[in-house]
Amino acid sequence: MLKSLKQYAKDHSIPIICDDGLLFLKDVIDDYHIKNVLEIGTAIGYSAIFMAEQGCKVTTFERNEKMIVQAKENFKSYQKHISLICGDALIYDQKLDQYDMIFIDAAKAQYQKFFDKFSPFLKKGGVIVCDNLNFHHLDPNKVNRNTRQLIRKINEFKVFLKEHDLYDTQFYDIGDGMSITKRVND
Ligand code: SAH
Ligand code: MG
Repeated sequence: MLKSLKQYAKDHSIPIICDDGLLFLKDVIDDYHIKNVLEIGTAIGYSAIFMAEQGCKVTTFERNEKMIVQAKENFKSYQKHISLICGDALIYDQKLDQYDMIFIDAAKAQYQKFFDKFSPFLKKGGVIVCDNLNFHHLDPNKVNRNTRQLIRKINEFKVFLKEHDLYDTQFYDIGDGMSITKRVND
């Protein structure tokens, strides 16, 4: 299943998590005994299915209609383990649980907003994992204005994480840059 999804993503240029990123997620899931995951950014469901196969219960947000259709199809045999919430995560105003892990892997320009909106749903002792923080090591002087703004936003978000008194963040040079954030003293 995962193998064919990975090939599909490759053939259709869908930005799924890389192999090292999956291993990283697996270690986090094991080390922190993660059971409940909230994922922002489903795409075709590759990372969600991976986490479900590690024994997690996954709730995942996707706003893109085409992705939703495919994710639904791919989740058919994971009904008990994965719930897909269709729509923009930032607009969602219904009930959510408390999660052991929140995995942010969606529109880079919105990482700060995702963090602000969903961090209250993190269980005590839980972790927030972010993907794609390094922007392929692009040189900000050699890209267009939009990309430059995105790089700036991501960098501001990284500074926010680094300087936050209530959270402790480690950054990893895995894939396109990943991080793991824990809440301190509560
Ligand atoms: N986690 C997936 C890859 C996700 S790609 C994996 O590794 O397999 C990022 C996805 O986030 C895209 O499909 C995009 O449509 C979705 N997305 C971006 N911003 C979003 C938002 N605000 N709400 C819901 N989904 C969003
Ligand atoms: Mg990603």
